[in-house]
Amino acid sequence: MIEARNIELSINGKTVLNKVNLSVQPGTFTAIAGPNGAGKSSLLKILSRESTRYTGQVQINDISVSSYSVAQLSAVRAVLPQHTHVQFPFSVKQIVEMGRHHFKTTTKQNKELLEEVMELTGITDWANRNYLTLSGGEQQRVQLTRVLAQVWDLKTFPRYVLLDEPTSSLDIAQQQLIFSLVKKACERNIGVLAIVHDLNQAVQFADHLHFMRNGSVIAQGESRKVFTKPIIEETFCCRVNVYHDPCTNCPYIVPERTTLSTLKTISV
Ligand code: ADP
Ligand code: MG
Repeated sequence: MIEARNIELSINGKTVLNKVNLSVQPGTFTAIAGPNGAGKSSLLKILSRESTRYTGQVQINDISVSSYSVAQLSAVRAVLPQHTHVQFPFSVKQIVEMGRHHFKTTTKQNKELLEEVMELTGITDWANRNYLTLSGGEQQRVQLTRVLAQVWDLKTFPRYVLLDEPTSSLDIAQQQLIFSLVKKACERNIGVLAIVHDLNQAVQFADHLHFMRNGSVIAQGESRKVFTKPIIEETFCCRVNVYHDPCTNCPYIVPERTTLSTLKTISV
């Protein structure tokens, strides 16, 4: 399990995270939703150890995240940041291979694993393409493939993937594909934590949902239980209506049309 306790972060005197508690169980998909600036990416960076200037505790599989070596950390968690900058004309295959950098598996095992994951994300045909010539959405799929490649081999210990808005540049079909893949990763004892802006997809796929606002988790729990009109309106300061799919009973929201004048009057 990834367990974060009492996480507090201040930057230049401003509270970015305020006593945040969160856990990610292996084999489950946890989503974080919240408005821009809520502290979601900051939290993800702390969980992945990209950021170390915070107070509180983060443990991965009962060991403090600060105790892991770089290689150990690579084996236990993979991270998709909100923005990935690639400067050089690597091929798609080379980018995906970077996910395997720390592993001493045989060349044959590596090749098979890379082929399997690239097939799953549907990027096999781009293997020799120059990454820089891909569209933004295509690049996002390649980066996600790299992340999955890092943790895809079956291991005796739980692994985790931390995804910061993994579908932000993808069309609706690709979004569905990626979330289905995330569920497939869960079947391999991988715990997934993803920051997701599309609430309807979050509730459709995630087992647990955390709503963040102003650096705090204001609601968290089983997705369908916390997906309520009052919680969503409080989180986003936006009027919404919650309905239920008659076939699956899964809830979904439709935001009320907002005009600039009503936007100013909404305060929850
Ligand atoms: P989210 O991902 O929820 O949109 P972030 O975690 O990126 O939000 O940022 C939370 C808040 O912290 C924002 O107000 C942002 O401007 C601020 N912040 C984050 N990193 C820094 C930084 N390095 N310097 C100054 N402010 C920062
Ligand atoms: Mg962010």
